[in-house]
Amino acid sequence: MICPKRTSELLDLHLAPFKDKDPAWEIGVSKIAGRGVMATRSLKRGEVIFKDSPLLMGLAAHEEDALNACTVCLKELPDTKFMCRQGCGLPVCPLCAKKKQHKTDCDMFKSWGPNEPEVANSVIIRLLCIARAINLTKDQRDLIYCLQANLDNNHRTEVRNAAKCFKNFPTDKKLIEIMNRTVAVMRTNGFDKTTDRTNDNQEFNYRALYPLFGVMNHDCIPNSYYTFDEKTNHMLVRAAVDIPEGFEITTTYTKLFTGNIARHLFLKMKKGFTCKCPRCSDPTEKGAFISGLYCRDTNCTGLVVPEITGLPHPNWNCLECKQKSTHAQMMKSQDFASGAINAKSNSNSLRTLVQYLNEKCASFIPDTNYVVIDAKMTVLQRLQVGREDCSEELAANTRLRYSRDITQVMDKLGLGDSLLRTQLEELLKREEERRAKRQAEEAEKQRKLAELQAKAAEADKILAAFEAEQAAEAAAGTSASSAGDPATAPAPPPLAESV
Ligand SMILES: [Zn+2]
Ligand SMILES: [Zn+2]
Ligand SMILES: [Zn+2]
Ligand SMILES: [Zn+2]
Repeated sequence: MICPKRTSELLDLHLAPFKDKDPAWEIGVSKIAGRGVMATRSLKRGEVIFKDSPLLMGLAAHEEDALNACTVCLKELPDTKFMCRQGCGLPVCPLCAKKKQHKTDCDMFKSWGPNEPEVANSVIIRLLCIARAINLTKDQRDLIYCLQANLDNNHRTEVRNAAKCFKNFPTDKKLIEIMNRTVAVMRTNGFDKTTDRTNDNQEFNYRALYPLFGVMNHDCIPNSYYTFDEKTNHMLVRAAVDIPEGFEITTTYTKLFTGNIARHLFLKMKKGFTCKCPRCSDPTEKGAFISGLYCRDTNCTGLVVPEITGLPHPNWNCLECKQKSTHAQMMKSQDFASGAINAKSNSNSLRTLVQYLNEKCASFIPDTNYVVIDAKMTVLQRLQVGREDCSEELAANTRLRYSRDITQVMDKLGLGDSLLRTQLEELLKREEERRAKRQAEEAEKQRKLAELQAKAAEADKILAAFEAEQAAEAAAGTSASSAGDPATAPAPPPLAESV
């Protein structure tokens, strides 16, 4: 481990253009692992803790990606004639072709002699981000060497494969070592067009290394979250919860809604460590039961969770009847549920998926299970684009219900703010407002109806009174005209009796 002091100095240099005069953080010795970023004062939820800028950044250029993007400004280019005319093998926009950054990239790659400079090659374009490390200053390169690197057997593959795409690829051991080291550091700390390393499901379309962020340690319930400024590519790290002075500021390297076993495996394989955070030490994951499955005993209503062993195939225990199951047995239930739900997720009908989740799933999988949460996230994403074959009412109810469900899971896990939470809360607010508006409209309709009914009743009354009057009048008229009628004529006064 490189001493925290040297790391701080190098980070100060990197952040100099925009560093706070009174930063809320410092590099210190971590209880989690090695060094970490510590709060130098208490931080309020939502407060910006620091801003970071990429030390290296480039196109991710995975094999399946469209390669017509500028390697400097990263903007999309027209479909044809986007390659640099100087023969460096890099796509570049006319504006950036004149910039210093491209001049440096161009000179380097031209001297290496790309085999087919006029054809866009994902391996060459992808390597650029790594190769740029060669032209950094010594302090900047030292900063890269300060960061954790998982130096496993695979970290040399990328440069080895790229070498085949050039006629005069450097053979200088020092240059190769810089590139290999950068690959390893990027794989441990960098972003690579992925949603893996995020608590937010936010997409990151490039390959980039944010060094201060790279020093932050992992916790499965991070106390910070980050957003990107699209224009400057700066990263803003904020407090997800109130953080007391002296506490370590953590981030998460894994997806949030994955169970204990999956997170362990990912961290072990990709990042090379075993997490011992409170969530990982709790079989119920703080009562959120993200990996929870139903007991195999059909008479038991208990949930079954994996033991905390750190092994990839632990035993599972029912929390109710205490029955033990093997990992293979429980994976059968999980695989069945995942298969069934994914099949519906992949179907074209959103309504079918929603109905399946609402009516069928609970019979074979607890709704806390990650596969259900994932499917609900998919539904919300699809609803954001359009409501497909869902009625307006179904779409509205689903948005309301699923965003509530997911925020509840976040609450159970003890997760504070995040971009995802903000998005879900906005969705909830909008949906609640819409619902309130609909209710107000309905109430107004009812009020108008009642008013009309009252008016009609009033009119009926008037009419009835009028009719009664008419009838009375008619009656009076009849009696006047039929004075001689003995039947209706008043009885004649009794005749005086003659004496
Ligand atoms: Zn450009
Ligand atoms: Zn060029
Ligand atoms: Zn953990
Ligand atoms: Zn049981």
